[in-house]
Amino acid sequence: MMQPIDPIYLDHAATTPTDPRVVQAMLPYFTEDYGNPGSPHHFGQRAEAAVEKSRAKIASILNCKPQEIIFTSCGTEADNLALRGSVMVAKKENKRRYVLTAHTEHHAVSTTAAQLADVEDITVEWLTVDQQGRIAPETLTKALCENTIIVSVMYANNEVGTIQPIRELAAIAHEYGALFHTDAVQAAGQLSLDVKALGVDMLALSAHKFYGPKGVGLLYVRDGVKLMPAQSGGGQERNLRAGTHNVPLIVGMAKALELAYSDLEARTAHYRHLRDRLIEGVLATIPGVQLTGAPGDGRLPNHSSFVFDGIEGNTLLMHLDMQGIAASSGSACNTGNPEPSEVLCSMGYESKLALGSLRLTVGKQTTDEHIDRVLQVLPEAVEKIRNVREAQTA
Ligand code: PLP
Repeated sequence: MMQPIDPIYLDHAATTPTDPRVVQAMLPYFTEDYGNPGSPHHFGQRAEAAVEKSRAKIASILNCKPQEIIFTSCGTEADNLALRGSVMVAKKENKRRYVLTAHTEHHAVSTTAAQLADVEDITVEWLTVDQQGRIAPETLTKALCENTIIVSVMYANNEVGTIQPIRELAAIAHEYGALFHTDAVQAAGQLSLDVKALGVDMLALSAHKFYGPKGVGLLYVRDGVKLMPAQSGGGQERNLRAGTHNVPLIVGMAKALELAYSDLEARTAHYRHLRDRLIEGVLATIPGVQLTGAPGDGRLPNHSSFVFDGIEGNTLLMHLDMQGIAASSGSACNTGNPEPSEVLCSMGYESKLALGSLRLTVGKQTTDEHIDRVLQVLPEAVEKIRNVREAQTA
């Protein structure tokens, strides 16, 4: 009889399982404390108290004031609010006209910027990145001008794990009076989110990347930053995001963030150990492979990513999946898309090589045995695919 394969999940950059403690914290807000936080009666007050307690908990981790946290339905919505909101204010005040960002950003930022350029009278300038996907401070300095509305650079990249020099970039943007937004969706639960130390005006998070529920996120908006609401209506969230609060999910996000920062060092040390074993193992045993993104401390603790000569990423994913290993060829939104990764192409990789990408991201439950198995299965899968290709072209 065939032994069932123990599944190995190595796609934590796409999403994480919700921590059971988070589920427990959320449950009463579905069934018992189900009031609308906007209602004046005691049901409403209990729900409102839960939302405000969550806001205060999150604010203490971000080192900001509770009222600077705006709850949204996801990371994408938070990025949209930052970009659309600031561009609309600039348009209304008829002042600045430039948005600076990069093709290496998540589509939540890059397609929003492109759409704004298409329908509004603004210009997007695309910042170039180096071979590791980093934006050099000098590149930003050269692109900035007195008419820049906002600079949007992600804290850490979802496809290649590279960490950007956010503090330096934000300080440069401020010299020109521009706003600085960072998409910290991948960084959350792995890097410090102290917004004062980072010096950012806005920062986006999404709970499902740090063992919280899907469908809830937030935007930190520094006091004094003016945004046009992307969603108008009932005036919730300081008039910046109308709509009845999703109380259980907000409670879950706060609990998840609290848990993520209570064991940050031990957990990220566990990630680093596994990530480094993976990277060293892959580079040592497979010919024609390159690590993509920055090495060592320049990348997210849980993140490894590669390109393989002569391999189609999606074929490799299928082989791994058949062996019970869940991985990704880049961002979750791109899986199944045969176009080469925009991120890798921006970093200077040829399209052919960029199509052969693989991302393996470890998590809390990943073990050394899982890594052993990947280091056994992956070289075999790569060899098999290359052999089939060779036979087909012979
Ligand atoms: N930004 C980054 C860097 C991401 O990796 C993701 C999700 O993959 C998002 C934004 C979108 O977040 P959400 O899934 O909450 O919309």
